[in-house]
Amino acid sequence: MSPAPVHCLSLHDLTSAEVQERLVADGLRPAHTRALWRALHADLETDLGGREDFLPPLRRWVAEHVGRDVTLDNPALTLGVSSTDGLTHKMLLRLGDGQEIETVIMGYPGRFTACLSTQAGCAMGCVFCATGQMGFVRHLRPGEIVSQVLQAQRQLRSRGEPGLRNLVLMGMGEPLHNYDAVMQALRILTDPRGPHLGPSRITVSTVGVVPGIRRFAAEKQPYNLAVSLHAATDAEREALVPINRRWPLAELLDACREYSVSTGRRVLFGWTLIAGCNDTPEQARQVAALLRGMAAHVNLIPLNPTSGYGGRTTDLAAAGQFRAILQEAGLPCTVRQRRGVDVAAGCGQLRAGGPPGL
Ligand code: SAH
Ligand code: SF4
Repeated sequence: MSPAPVHCLSLHDLTSAEVQERLVADGLRPAHTRALWRALHADLETDLGGREDFLPPLRRWVAEHVGRDVTLDNPALTLGVSSTDGLTHKMLLRLGDGQEIETVIMGYPGRFTACLSTQAGCAMGCVFCATGQMGFVRHLRPGEIVSQVLQAQRQLRSRGEPGLRNLVLMGMGEPLHNYDAVMQALRILTDPRGPHLGPSRITVSTVGVVPGIRRFAAEKQPYNLAVSLHAATDAEREALVPINRRWPLAELLDACREYSVSTGRRVLFGWTLIAGCNDTPEQARQVAALLRGMAAHVNLIPLNPTSGYGGRTTDLAAAGQFRAILQEAGLPCTVRQRRGVDVAAGCGQLRAGGPPGL
């Protein structure tokens, strides 16, 4: 067991309104918020001590509180590896309690996307996923999610690249199992005074935590929702995704419809293609029938290898045929590019603690 995280308020856990509340409670004027927020989220500071733009009351506040009852999230970059094509960069980050998580930066023509972790490990146990194979360690705090973005921005800045444009919550962990921390992190990251990432450029991916999807829908969260489906019958899905026993397909799809109706957005369904397991033409027809009438898009992801699962990845011909059947049935569908597989940064390969291999 790893030690419990030490609890100390992190400024990275707070929205700008909450930072302001804290400063005002300590007797400062609200106007100091802007300088503090800029240091944290625009200048990506990890040390507030030497800020020339801070007026004396804010300097005194920093000297009095930071490092005592207030802290910053500054995970150490313990390892950075780039894929041989140079387009994918995996960072291994060590959190305050020594726990390691992974964040991946993916480059596309003219834009960068970060893939964020939301938990250390995962409780959902999907058989083909390296994070699932390591089990659940703990939830991440909002600041630990936010600081992955800040680290990615620092990396991009040091290479003279433009900042991140898109975020996908598809790294380690199940975002809707850590709902409050994830939504708080996204509020911070989309804050118009701060990092200001566009909500429509953020995708939250879930394995199908139905109460979380219902809450996401009821709260009309402005982010995209991806649902990892992988199978079109309960028996087949249970074998891959154990939580299907708790929230079977009919319930899951009901919740997805609720989301579509309440937000007016389509659901992105993820389907990891495993040779001979869920990549046959018959299964493609089943998923087309299951999703008929829904505002949906299907992302097909060829399985990436993990040490704890013997399944094989689908071949290109089977993936192409699967896609063609969905498209003929009127279901928009793409085969996701395989990214970063040579540094174990592909979907489902993230697993902290080991070397940059499998
Ligand atoms: N827990 C969330 C988000 C993290 S997993 C979820 O399950 O959706 C992100 C995506 O990677 C999911 O679509 C998941 O099904 C996929 N994935 C997991 N293991 C994989 C593997 N070995 N190969 C390809 N995709 C995988
Ligand atoms: Fe968790 Fe997602 Fe991996 Fe399943 S696929 S074990 S939900 S991280």
